[in-house]
Amino acid sequence: MDHFQLKDGHLHCEDVPMSRIADEVGTPVYVYSKATLERHAAVFRDALAGVGRGEPLLAFAVKANPNLAVLKVLANQGYGADVVSVGELRRALAAGMEPAKIVFSGVGKTAAELRAALEAGIGQFNLESEEEGEELSEIASEMGMRARCALRINPDVDAGTHDKISTGKADNKFGTPIGDAASLYARLATVPGLEMRGLAMHIGSQLSDLAPLEAAFEKLGKLLKTLRESGQSVRQVDLGGGLGVPYKSGEILPSPGEYGAMVRRVTQDWDVSLAFEPGRVIAGNAGVLLTRVVRVKRGVVHPFVVVDAAMNDLARPAMYGAWHDFVAVEPDGEEMTANIVGPICETGDTFATGRQCDRLERGDLAIFRTAGAYGATMASSYNSRGFVAEVLVDGDRFAVVADRIAADSIMNAERVPDWL
Ligand SMILES: *Cc1c(COP(=O)(O)O)cnc(C)c1O
Repeated sequence: MDHFQLKDGHLHCEDVPMSRIADEVGTPVYVYSKATLERHAAVFRDALAGVGRGEPLLAFAVKANPNLAVLKVLANQGYGADVVSVGELRRALAAGMEPAKIVFSGVGKTAAELRAALEAGIGQFNLESEEEGEELSEIASEMGMRARCALRINPDVDAGTHDKISTGKADNKFGTPIGDAASLYARLATVPGLEMRGLAMHIGSQLSDLAPLEAAFEKLGKLLKTLRESGQSVRQVDLGGGLGVPYKSGEILPSPGEYGAMVRRVTQDWDVSLAFEPGRVIAGNAGVLLTRVVRVKRGVVHPFVVVDAAMNDLARPAMYGAWHDFVAVEPDGEEMTANIVGPICETGDTFATGRQCDRLERGDLAIFRTAGAYGATMASSYNSRGFVAEVLVDGDRFAVVADRIAADSIMNAERVPDWL
C-alpha cells in the first residue's frame, strides 16, 4: 500500500496534489511519501520482530535512496544503515543514524574508507576477502583498535533476478566462496586487528521468489554449525536485503510477512543476533517520478509521448529493461497505446514501448510509480540536463529535500586550461 492515490480525479501524494508540487518545484521531480516510508519500515520491522537473539538490526541499504531526509525518517524509525562507500557513511551519520547500527559492505572499500569507518566507530565491517581483512587489521592495529567483522559468504545460488543485480552466484564478484569460508574465517579470527563476530550474505536484489533466499540461508546455517564445531565463535549473522517489490499493478510478490516467517523457520536454532539490509522494499513504492509531457509525436505504429524526464533521471528502464507503471495525474478516463520516451539523444531513453496508458496530451502531468529506490540516486547529468530535484511529502505539507542542480552549475565546475 502507498499514499499516491486519486482524490477527486487528481493524483495526490498523501494530501498534496501533484500539480502543486509541479507548479512550485518544476518537473521532473522525485516525490517521496513520508507516511509510506514509515509504513514500510514498520511492516518490515513487525515481520522480523523477535527473530534471532534480541531484536534484529535493521540496516537500510543507503544505496537504494541516500537522500538525507529519507534517511532521517528511517533513523527516527530505529533503522541503521548498510553503507557501501564513505559518502554513504557520511550521509548515514549526518542523518543521525547511530554508528553502532552502521554496517559497511562492498567489494572495493579503500584504505581511506576503512580508516574513516573505524574513526566513526561503525558496528560492523562485512569483509569480502582475506586481502581486505589483512588490510583492515593493519589499519585498525595502527589506530589501536579492533574492527568488528563479519565474513561475507558467496553461497553460489541463482537468485533468479536480473544479471546485473545478482550477487550470490560463484562467478559474481561478491563474497568469499562458501567452500573456502570455514578455513578463511578461522584464519581471520587469528588476525590481531579483527574481531570476527559472524557471517554476512546478500544474494541479489528484486528477488521475486523466497526459494533462492531460503536455499542460501540453509547453506549459511550449515557453515555456521561447521564453524562452531571447530571452536569458532559466531554471534551475528547478517542476511542482507533483496526482497522484491511489485512494479506492475496486480503483480504479487512475497510479502515481508512471508519472508519473516521463512527467516524464523530457517534460523530458529542458530542462536545468533540477526541483521537485515532492506533497501527497495522500504523505499521503492514510497516514491514516484513526476514528469510533464513535452509533446506527443506521431509514430509509425504508436505515438511517442515525449516527457521531460529521461534516462538520466530514472535509469532503471534503460539499464535493466525495468517496468514502471506510468499514470496520468488527471486521467480523463480515456486510454491510449504509446511509446513513452524522454528527450535524450539515444534510443535507450525509452521508458516503455507499446504501453497501454492514460491518454495524455502536451502539458499534462504524469508519474512513473515505484521510483523511490534506485531512482534519484542513479541520476546523471547526461546530455547536460542537470540533476533532478527531490521532494518529501508529510500530510498536507511538503519540502524540497534535494535542490535541482542546474546544468550551468555543473558546467561552472569545469575548467578550460589557459593553454587552450
Ligand atoms: C544493494 C544491497 C542491499 C539492498 O538490496 P535491496 O534489494 O534494495 O533490498 C543490501 N545489502 C547489500 C550488501 C547490497 O549491496
